[in-house]
Amino acid sequence: MSALLEVEGLDMHFPIRGGVLQRTVGQVYAVNDVSFEVRAGETLGIVGESGCGKTTLGRAIVRLYEPTAGTVRFEGRDVGALAGDELKQLRADIQMVFQDPYTSLNPRRTIERTLEEPLLLHGVTSRDERRARVRKLLDTVGLRQSDLPKYPHEFSGGQRQRIGIARALVLEPKLVIADEPVSALDVSIQSQVLNLLMDLQKEHGLTYLFISHDLTVVKYISDRVAVMYLGRIVELADSRAIYASPRHPYTKALLAAVPVPDPSRERREELLEGDVPNPSAPPPGCPFHTRCRYVIDRCRSELPVLRAAGDDSSHRVACHRADEIQQEETPS
Ligand code: SF4
Repeated sequence: MSALLEVEGLDMHFPIRGGVLQRTVGQVYAVNDVSFEVRAGETLGIVGESGCGKTTLGRAIVRLYEPTAGTVRFEGRDVGALAGDELKQLRADIQMVFQDPYTSLNPRRTIERTLEEPLLLHGVTSRDERRARVRKLLDTVGLRQSDLPKYPHEFSGGQRQRIGIARALVLEPKLVIADEPVSALDVSIQSQVLNLLMDLQKEHGLTYLFISHDLTVVKYISDRVAVMYLGRIVELADSRAIYASPRHPYTKALLAAVPVPDPSRERREELLEGDVPNPSAPPPGCPFHTRCRYVIDRCRSELPVLRAAGDDSSHRVACHRADEIQQEETPS
């Protein structure tokens, strides 16, 4: 699979202003030196606790924020260098689905208008064509034609997310960045929306960047998973490898915190304690060292780079002790 999206060395820092003159007195280091690629047709899950920078990363990719450093390439083109019609096309090719469809839908607009507007903005001037495309899309996401004249408040949470997905798909994008798309929904509805996303991917050859704090959800939908901690990717691998054989202590701790039916596994020693440090004052060395049960002196001063875990070049981990920990924990 070729890379549709390539992110290289991406930093997103926000100034903290203070005093009467609103001078910059610090920085929030939300995303730091993040590199990865998303291949055409795959789903890359981005997972981590809240405050780990995953939402900021999604927004920096679509240029809702201007990155502090680094490059984002979409189909080989530098997104930061696009302007005019090219930028407009990029905004059609990359769409976002948000966590809370209610706040992202205009309460005063009917569903028909909500879905037709992107088409109008992108030059589909024929009303008949707009209507035909919207009607077809409505079928695709499992809503009825009779829903078109309704307003967002007339729908349930799950239906509203279907509308949010329809709006994202109306311009036939190549990449969809879904930011916590099912976290606001009841568990029973979550799987319906996830299945819808997976069906749409198959039908339309979509590529997803799927952002979530929920490892179970990410596991369900992703081909590969990137684990983020304090604005950095600390582990990146095939979904199966991450869940069957996590290598980073943070990933191990996140997985240990997922409720499992077997009560003997419920309270494992890896359970995560404490909070994510403040991203305006990240600890030196390994960002996870303040919570890591494997910490050694080196971790407090030297930042581990993301590198191949053992012999597997597709499984990457940023931990000085990943190999050692793996050996210790592998039954002989
Ligand atoms: Fe823990 Fe050190 Fe590995 Fe960081 S580098 S995850 S502190 S063992």
